[in-house]
Amino acid sequence: MLPLPALEEAAQKLVDFEGSGMSLVEMSHRGKVYERVHNETIALFREILTVPNEFQVLFLQGGATLQFAMIPMAFLRAGDAADFILTGTWAKKAHEDASLVGRANIIWDGKTSKYTRMPQQKELSFTSGARYVHLCSNETIGGVQWASYPDTAGVPIVADMSSDILSRQFPWNNIGLVFAGTQKNLAPAGMAIVVIRKDFIAAARKDLPAYLRYDLHAENNSLYNTPPTFTVWATNLTLKWIKSMGGLEALERLNREKATLLYDLIDASGGYYKNPVEKASRSLMNVVWLLDDDGLEDDFFKEAERQGLSGLKGHRSVGGCRASIYNAMPMEGVRALADFMKEFMKKHG
Ligand SMILES: *Cc1c(COP(=O)(O)O)cnc(C)c1O
Repeated sequence: MLPLPALEEAAQKLVDFEGSGMSLVEMSHRGKVYERVHNETIALFREILTVPNEFQVLFLQGGATLQFAMIPMAFLRAGDAADFILTGTWAKKAHEDASLVGRANIIWDGKTSKYTRMPQQKELSFTSGARYVHLCSNETIGGVQWASYPDTAGVPIVADMSSDILSRQFPWNNIGLVFAGTQKNLAPAGMAIVVIRKDFIAAARKDLPAYLRYDLHAENNSLYNTPPTFTVWATNLTLKWIKSMGGLEALERLNREKATLLYDLIDASGGYYKNPVEKASRSLMNVVWLLDDDGLEDDFFKEAERQGLSGLKGHRSVGGCRASIYNAMPMEGVRALADFMKEFMKKHG
């Protein structure tokens, strides 16, 4: 879900951008009008996420998935290793890609607990000299999120924040690179935002095809080739909405309230609904649950749909139910779901 004011402003200005007589998506990405939107978007992002000076913000295509390949290709030279913490589907995908490129050590695998928790600090030991440690900030499919990032003994963190970027603040010390596909919490699909430390840019390989080179994207302010201008503009509108909502502190508080409402309902249902995730690792963005009687699942989705509650099916790889309550989902939306879940339980109890 995207913020309604952002969608409405995009709709209103799509044909004639601020009296220019043409659509922003028709303009040259090297023209003054687009350039202003581009730079304002970077500045807003930096301001809202308090990005320190030693980082650069990049807009890259290929979604989060291209970053799974681009990161190891840029940073793992012969003999280099990176550490991976396997917490679910997305961390595993990143690890698979990196294994094709260099030494990708698995330092923890949540398989034995069916990816229902994040590791504890004492379960982690990092490879000395590892170039980076990859972690997935929020596992979108499993509904598992790091409450806070681990102490990585000086190994820089590369964090996949595709499904929780801009949902909370986090400490920047020890971060080497953060990336996020835009389509979950920010804008339409078509882009990844990458926040990369300048020493990482300097260390990235330059003997790669142009699009895979962080240094080229950085030098050209993400205008090395044509950026996805509509997605950048939509990101701009969402960022303005975040500011109007009071910024990340206010959003985090709201996100916590939204998630708590659902988790409390699930926990109080006497096992009618079950969330398999360890409490300390529960996601504020993706709340997953199973019905004790899974024969009722189809009725659950059908009746929900009739109430205007859609998109509640769990990811096809795991089944069950999932409510993705990203930033733009208002409290009323979550309340409507909670009310429906209570009613459903009464009716089919
Ligand atoms: C959706 C998602 C991805 C993949 O994003 P694309 O932009 O589709 O490549 C990667 N990581 C996480 C955590 C995701 O939720």
